[in-house]
Amino acid sequence: MSILTSMLHFTPGQGDDVSRDGDPHPAAPGVGDPRADPLGFAAAFEQWAAAGPAALRAAARPIAEYADRVTATSALMRVLFDEGWSRYGWPVELGGLGGAIQHRAALWDVLARAGLPTMALYEHLEILAPTLAALGEPAFVAEVLPRFLRGDETWSQGFSEPEAGSDLASLRTRAVPAEGGYVVTGRKIWTSWARYATWCLVLARTGTPAERHRGLTAFAVDLRSPGVEVRVIEQANGTDELAEVTFDDVHVPAGRIVGAPGGGWAVAMHILSSERGTLAWFKHCFFQRRLQEHLEQVGPGAAAFDGELGAAVLDLAAVRATSFDGLLAHAAGATLGPRAAFVKLLLCASERSVGDWMLAADPDLAIGIQDDEVAVARQDYLFSRIVTVYGGSQQMQLDTIAKQILRLP
Ligand SMILES: Cc1cc2nc3c(=O)[nH]c(=O)nc-3n(C[C@H](O)[C@H](O)[C@H](O)COP(=O)(O)OP(=O)(O)OC[C@H]3O[C@@H](n4cnc5c(N)ncnc54)[C@H](O)[C@@H]3O)c2cc1C
Repeated sequence: MSILTSMLHFTPGQGDDVSRDGDPHPAAPGVGDPRADPLGFAAAFEQWAAAGPAALRAAARPIAEYADRVTATSALMRVLFDEGWSRYGWPVELGGLGGAIQHRAALWDVLARAGLPTMALYEHLEILAPTLAALGEPAFVAEVLPRFLRGDETWSQGFSEPEAGSDLASLRTRAVPAEGGYVVTGRKIWTSWARYATWCLVLARTGTPAERHRGLTAFAVDLRSPGVEVRVIEQANGTDELAEVTFDDVHVPAGRIVGAPGGGWAVAMHILSSERGTLAWFKHCFFQRRLQEHLEQVGPGAAAFDGELGAAVLDLAAVRATSFDGLLAHAAGATLGPRAAFVKLLLCASERSVGDWMLAADPDLAIGIQDDEVAVARQDYLFSRIVTVYGGSQQMQLDTIAKQILRLP
């Protein structure tokens, strides 16, 4: 068992091992099942991964074509759900098997160490799903969360607009009451994985522009609805993760409001607390793996770049310590609030420094693409140049720390 999994001590809490009537999925683990504890879960899952199941082997390799990577990762999610692994850490009443976020932390740590290159679009399981579970309408979430966990349907996040990024409270997408719900009209941009998604969590204005963040509501919008158009944005690294999504009089049933009407800002802050805070744990597992793999490929030549390597190792250690603290806070029912800005800055620094080291030690990244392995490494390197923008730019994180933590004027 790794040092990482030895950090996963578990304090039983809400949602543990609760049975319910009419559960369409297998029941939660019985009393004495070692998987009810994250350490026992990690050990059992590590054994499962070590046996090299076909779905894991198919996904745990460099796949340059992004759509193929999505297909392989989704096939793996299906197996993980059907065998129960990915249901740990989610409430039983929402289709999970109980347990805590440490279960999910162990799941992705083991997958990363088994060679899975990224969470790909399942990052949104750790950005959006915790908020859906906490603030969504329970019957709706119980319907959609299992499909998300199983990779049958995925989600995207519709916050940013062409004129509203850092200043999110100025967004213009409108939702007006209509029979049985609302009609949503507007334009979202930089919507990660919208191309592959069934749902989009859209932040829309239900109040006046003058109300700013107080006049917003969050909606779960079915992207298959009439009036939705998703246009892919090709990125400089050759992937098609991002999209522009337009909503032209899209009807959204009233039961698809997430949080309270007019409470969209609280929903957005809950999501950003995960995206800037706890997500760092999940992502750093993959950076750690990337660094390790590259070290093995470069071999003794790595010694010439030990300065870059040392910086990457230290940055990763900082993320690991702070993000694990975030996991514990989350498990205790708290959100990180403005403290998540620190974690986000450290995560950005580590992704960049791993990229810097990879480029320094492997000139192939800059010169030519021979195979999928180099192609994916180059995609990762180029992506590491834009990480200081998504989830709120680096300047905005510094602004949050200055104003909300240091209370500077
Ligand atoms: C890879 C990637 C994935 C993304 N995925 C999503 C997604 O799934 N869903 C979604 O809704 N959005 C997504 N975004 C959008 C992202 O949240 C925005 O790009 C970000 O919030 C910045 O907004 P902007 O691009 O409009 O830049 P702007 O807000 O125009 O900022 C431009 C520059 O000005 C600086 N700046 C702006 N205001 C201030 C200020 N008050 N003080 C100091 N500096 C300031 C910023 O730091 C930045 O450097 C993604 C972006 C990227 C790069």
